[in-house]
Amino acid sequence: MGRHGESGDSRGTGLIAQLATLAFLSAAHAGLSDAELLDLRDEILPLVEQAAGRQFTATPAVDTRTHAGIGDVIEAEDEALAGQFYPHLGPRALHAFRRGDPTGPPVFGKFSLLNQTVYIRSDIARAWRLHRKAGGMDALETETEENLAACVLAHELAHALQLQHSALDSVVQDGDMERLAAWNALAEGHAVQITRQVCAARGTPGLMERLEPALGFDGPGPGPESGEVQSRQEAGLRFVEAQPDIWAVFAALPTDTRMIHRPDSYRPGVPVEAFPGWPTLEASARDLLGSDPSLSMRDRAGFQTLQPLIRRSEAGEQVLDGLTSAHIGTVSLGARVVEVMAVEMASPAAAQGLLEAFREQEAWRLRPERRWRSATFVEPPVDSGGPAGGWHSRFTVRPSQGGDLGAVTAVWAATRGRWVVRVWMSQITPEDTRCGTTLHTLLTALAAASP
Ligand SMILES: [Zn+2]
Repeated sequence: MGRHGESGDSRGTGLIAQLATLAFLSAAHAGLSDAELLDLRDEILPLVEQAAGRQFTATPAVDTRTHAGIGDVIEAEDEALAGQFYPHLGPRALHAFRRGDPTGPPVFGKFSLLNQTVYIRSDIARAWRLHRKAGGMDALETETEENLAACVLAHELAHALQLQHSALDSVVQDGDMERLAAWNALAEGHAVQITRQVCAARGTPGLMERLEPALGFDGPGPGPESGEVQSRQEAGLRFVEAQPDIWAVFAALPTDTRMIHRPDSYRPGVPVEAFPGWPTLEASARDLLGSDPSLSMRDRAGFQTLQPLIRRSEAGEQVLDGLTSAHIGTVSLGARVVEVMAVEMASPAAAQGLLEAFREQEAWRLRPERRWRSATFVEPPVDSGGPAGGWHSRFTVRPSQGGDLGAVTAVWAATRGRWVVRVWMSQITPEDTRCGTTLHTLLTALAAASP
């Protein structure tokens, strides 16, 4: 579930990633007292209202927490939302949603959806200085704790205001991760925009912009695995800046991330269409797992899901312009994971383009200089049952401490007509080729359902 090894490639925009940015990722004294925080709130509140062009219907509660305390707030929210979005998951699986990454950026504040309270790090100045060293943000050394806390507070109060004027409840009840991802991008972009204005109004223009790189903008981050995927905040900010009336958008929330990444495509009140191929998709994933898995989930998918899968493809971003709809079924049993993705494109040519973009990303993954993996890349192995193309790659992952190669992971992809199907299987036996049959079945069913 976003943590299952290599499959994290495609689940990398899973629930945690979607929700974590409700927290203000990162920001600076000897300790922020409750009284100081209340004073700061009373100063910031009208500035947020002025920047947003909306009034609070109720004054949000604010409180200080230690680093661990804010972590607890985030975990409680993640678990509650995970239960809503993945009702099939049991308590143990939900527990796995807890943020456990000690290397992640520190969190400086958090607006809790559960009790509509804004929490701010009590040691925000010290925390900021610790983080600043890693981020090369020397220019912030002289910034006062009050100014840094004001940034964090403005951001989290913006989220509180958003919740008072939008129907997030409907998104959560809907259990549609794609809608949640779109809402999250909208909320983050809007909060960044408001925070910039509040900082300017407080006489610290540009402070927010200087903080943003260290705040991560929750992009893919440095390292060999990183790509050029636009972060949720960046995409959200561009979307927000393109809207003539942002509160009208909060009243008629975008239904998918395509609307975020392509602001021109936003239309209020667009219904979410049912996916006719879902039963086949889900059944295929279950069949491939070879058991009756107790874990199951269903997703729509969109730009947020597909971008990381094609970021090494030069034409990838343009290919996504042809995206009509995308759906994912993931089932897992222990370490074994099967993920089946069906993507409908606007034309057969667009489908071929996406297949090629998937292949380019896969070829990058399997490049020979990554000696810690041994891999084979086979094409074309897949009978997709029609005028189409397909490929199949498989690889083993060597444990980081050395030792024997791990179990085989394989990826298949094929296209037929306007459809592209991609299957990911981990912990399989080397001779396992059931995917070819699955692809054929799925592509036939999907082509029939969508002539
Ligand atoms: Zn936020």
